[in-house]
Amino acid sequence: MSSSKSSSKAKRINFSTLFKGIIKAGYCASCGACVSVCPVNSIEMQNDLPKLVSTCISCGACVDACYRFQKREKQEQAAMDPNEILEIYTAKAKDERIYTQAQNGGVVTTLLVHAFEEGLIDGALVTDKYSNLFEPKPILVNTSEGVIHGAGSKYVISNSLTKLDAVRTSHKKKAAIVGVPCHIESLTRIMEFGYLGLDHRVALKIGLFCMHSYDKNLLKQFVADKFNITPEQIIKMDIDKGKFIFVTETEKYKVKLSDIDSAFYNGCHFCSDFTADYSDIAVGNIGVDTKSNVVLVRTQKGKELFESAIEKGLLEVTKIDSSEWETKFGLVFKLEKRKKKEAKALPALD
Ligand SMILES: Cc1cc2nc3c(=O)[nH]c(=O)nc-3n(C[C@H](O)[C@H](O)[C@H](O)COP(=O)(O)OP(=O)(O)OC[C@H]3O[C@@H](n4cnc5c(N)ncnc54)[C@H](O)[C@@H]3O)c2cc1C
Ligand code: SF4
Ligand code: SF4
Ligand code: SF4
Repeated sequence: MSSSKSSSKAKRINFSTLFKGIIKAGYCASCGACVSVCPVNSIEMQNDLPKLVSTCISCGACVDACYRFQKREKQEQAAMDPNEILEIYTAKAKDERIYTQAQNGGVVTTLLVHAFEEGLIDGALVTDKYSNLFEPKPILVNTSEGVIHGAGSKYVISNSLTKLDAVRTSHKKKAAIVGVPCHIESLTRIMEFGYLGLDHRVALKIGLFCMHSYDKNLLKQFVADKFNITPEQIIKMDIDKGKFIFVTETEKYKVKLSDIDSAFYNGCHFCSDFTADYSDIAVGNIGVDTKSNVVLVRTQKGKELFESAIEKGLLEVTKIDSSEWETKFGLVFKLEKRKKKEAKALPALD
């Protein structure tokens, strides 16, 4: 061995490693994964950032769980193989209640309700809201009613993975996790490491397309300054034809997407995944009308669930032949490439 005694001394990995490498540096995606894996519950999210609130025992779990840290540390070697696209559909829910309450076509909610009814899952991690849509509430629900209550997009950062620990403590054997790409990335990492027993407790990963998300405080300030409205007045947020739309009981306030760039969440600038590369099934709305979905089936598991929902007559679908993917969904692929190209690089650690 050529290394000297001092150079072979193991580097101490603890919360400070994560803090310096990701949080303080401004690279955090606020996914919440580090909070869940800490065996001594020493991390809490405060203002959407992880904070050490009690003793760190230097186990290194939070560092392992953070995909962004892995990318900084290992650069290219950290990259996981994406799940390829097996099939593409456009789809919408047939159930009137789901269709009305859902963000777009209601495919995500339909798939979760169907999975519950078929006994394929016994829990689902969704993002409901506290008092308004700017206050997302990640929650592990165990009924279809809970899923339907949580329908609709909250276009602000959700620390969803803070609730992964609930999957373990409530002994859920077959949970479905719904999340934007950064959630699905860190979840996949945690499953690879086997933390919280998630490798055998998570039955399904449903990804949502995501170009970027918003900082709740900046968005709140934006709607106050621009439209003189409060988050409590907003009953739905939508994105359509290059416009962001805030819907209240009486008005629709529209703004060009580029005009609210200032409210982006900072950590989103370092994100390169648009269509949830590591999900079983990814659902979005780009390129179709606002009350429909584009569905990318990415794994056999996703395919079986989607086909079984079709067989049960729950979805109105059109399957797109692979020869037409580029012509019909060119925009999806274009944005996917653009996001990968324009994402700010996470610099290598010293
Ligand atoms: C932050 C964000 C950005 C998005 N950006 C795009 C985009 O650029 N292009 C595009 O085509 N689609 C985007 N989407 C996806 C789109 O808004 C819909 O979620 C998707 O089309 C599924 O529609 P649906 O009718 O099936 O959803 P629903 O049936 O209403 O289900 C939506 C599910 O998303 C969960 N959810 C809501 N908010 C969040 C959140 N913040 N984090 C994690 N889970 C959440 C809900 O709990 C629910 O389970 C984005 C979604 C989010 C949350
Ligand atoms: S105990 Fe482990 S998981 Fe918790 S903060 Fe320390 S290093 Fe991170
Ligand atoms: S990106 Fe996620 S896992 Fe990494 S520090 Fe931020 S909240 Fe924790
Ligand atoms: S842009 Fe990336 S980091 Fe930001 S919310 Fe979407 S998936 Fe997460």
